[in-house]
Amino acid sequence: MRLLTDVGLEPTSKRLYVLELLLRATKALSAPQLLEHIVHDNAMNKVTLYRILDKLVEKGVVRRTTSADRMHRYCAGFHGEFHCHFHCVRCDKTYCLPPPPDNRPTMPPEMCVGRIDTVDILYEGVCSACIAPCETDSPPQSP
Ligand SMILES: [Zn+2]
Ligand SMILES: [Zn+2]
Repeated sequence: MRLLTDVGLEPTSKRLYVLELLLRATKALSAPQLLEHIVHDNAMNKVTLYRILDKLVEKGVVRRTTSADRMHRYCAGFHGEFHCHFHCVRCDKTYCLPPPPDNRPTMPPEMCVGRIDTVDILYEGVCSACIAPCETDSPPQSP
């Protein structure tokens, strides 16, 4: 609840519901993945979901990352602070990677062409659970 009031957002039940889903997921989820839960709970429609996600991203509570297939994924990991993601092209899971020590995105000074406002770094590949043949049947446990 404080996550929302801290950034000046009214903690409506729908916003809290979406944020709860993302906090519980511990991974970045796409809107269709979120909708699977939402439709199950019969909580809201797609348009409302996108509006809520946009608002949460705008306020920095939720981070958005976009993969090569142009799919947006959303996460509430690390309190919305800067961090990178890893997308497994086999199981389609998107892992949140720990933030860098100084918690800030950086550019090499010689490449610095201006002020950085947002950064979206997404590594793509195959996760270790998908690489290990004996583990393919059991997805990695959430921390
Ligand atoms: Zn995988
Ligand atoms: Zn994340």
